[in-house]
Amino acid sequence: MKIKETLRKATRATQFFHRRAYHSLGLWHLHKQIDVSLALMLLLCIVSFPVLMKCSFKKLPAEPEVLEVVPDEELNNITETEEVHEDLGDAPVEKEVHVSLSELEKRVQLGELTMDTYALQKGESLLTVLNKEKVPANERMNIVESLELLINLKSLKPGMEIMLFKDKEDLVGLSLTLKEGENISVLKEIDGSWTPFSHTGRVETKTTRWEGVVERTFSGSAKKYGVPENLVSQIINALDGEIDFSSDIRAGTTFDVIAEYKQTEWGLEIGSKQLVYVGITGGSKEIHRYVYTPKNGTTGFYDAKGRSVSKQIMKRPLKAKARVSSPFGTRFHPILKYKIFHKGVDLAAPKNTPIVAAADGTIELLGRKGGYGKYISIKHANGWKTAYAHMNGYRKDLKVGSYVKRGEVIGYVGSTGRSTGPHLHFEVLKNKQVVAPFGTNIIQGNQLTGFALEQFQAWAESVHPDFKQHLSGKIPPIPMPKPF
Ligand SMILES: [Zn+2]
Repeated sequence: MKIKETLRKATRATQFFHRRAYHSLGLWHLHKQIDVSLALMLLLCIVSFPVLMKCSFKKLPAEPEVLEVVPDEELNNITETEEVHEDLGDAPVEKEVHVSLSELEKRVQLGELTMDTYALQKGESLLTVLNKEKVPANERMNIVESLELLINLKSLKPGMEIMLFKDKEDLVGLSLTLKEGENISVLKEIDGSWTPFSHTGRVETKTTRWEGVVERTFSGSAKKYGVPENLVSQIINALDGEIDFSSDIRAGTTFDVIAEYKQTEWGLEIGSKQLVYVGITGGSKEIHRYVYTPKNGTTGFYDAKGRSVSKQIMKRPLKAKARVSSPFGTRFHPILKYKIFHKGVDLAAPKNTPIVAAADGTIELLGRKGGYGKYISIKHANGWKTAYAHMNGYRKDLKVGSYVKRGEVIGYVGSTGRSTGPHLHFEVLKNKQVVAPFGTNIIQGNQLTGFALEQFQAWAESVHPDFKQHLSGKIPPIPMPKPF
């Protein structure tokens, strides 16, 4: 009650002084308009006060420049002492600055951090990779969530390179190469949070070359000269058939290998080395092969004239020695108990022995097919096909339409369908007709023509200084692969 009374008194007093003030100025007839204007001005002042204050701070005269030269070391000391709180003592200094990709790269070069490059596999997501790297669950989510602020992680494609920066076992940074020189990174700050940012750095393509002489075997000597193991096996896989690595290559044979790789501006290598050329000269053999990817085509080994290497279909597409349990042709069927034409060859091997693609091609069928059980058929170039039956299982990421390289695992030996025990039933077809898998089944290489040939030769000339000589006809024609 007392408060109400006081309020009423105060209001009345205010009204009295209000009216008196206007009357004394002779402005009573305008009091409403003036009141509103005053109120608006007051409001404007309140709203603009903080803004005005900020502006006036900025307008403060700049401090006079220090003319005295302060050595860098001293400057560092100054900033550090300013940042250390007295009560922290020897505790590490926390800097507000964000960690940067180039800083991580420098630390890798100093040996403080390690960096692994990982190529995203078919059917893998970033989470799968982080899982594999044993990144704790909460960190995984933080990384993914921060990256998703910049890109849609579902748009990542197989083969995309991921750089993983590690401090011993702990992941401290991750960088995705979207395309050459363009990265999206997420780096761990000192407070444990993850900051995403995009980074456009200079990435150069460099080449390395190894020239050597074979002592005993090609693979042994190439490795000795420093050719990476994966390139050695790529060469052997591709040229096996064209060259007999056991009889054509002997002591004194020379080899010449060129590979390409990408390097960041800090001199850090990204991804693995890619083979671009291999030359082998010795005895009667002289071959020069360029590893080239034509536009909209698949990577292959080409001679200087733009012909891709002819390839023989593998006779035993298994990753282990296999015994022929039933040959191709007419035979007495052990289950059906009558003479039947055997359309393929049966290779007995332990359950789950890896089955490989007998030549480069596209998966045409993948699934159960009656008595064949679990079955895959692959379509190769120039009317060739191969089929694999009674499999125990398929390689997980394979599907109809997947492209597979010669020697790439496609599934595992089993005994599904009409089968007496674990074995691979393997068929080779040319223009829909079955042929003997142990015959010399050669898939003829393609010849680049027209503009595609011009593009290839311009590229090849940039790869090898002796390209013109390779082209000038001193090269013997590509020999047909010998039967195994
Ligand atoms: Zn069979």
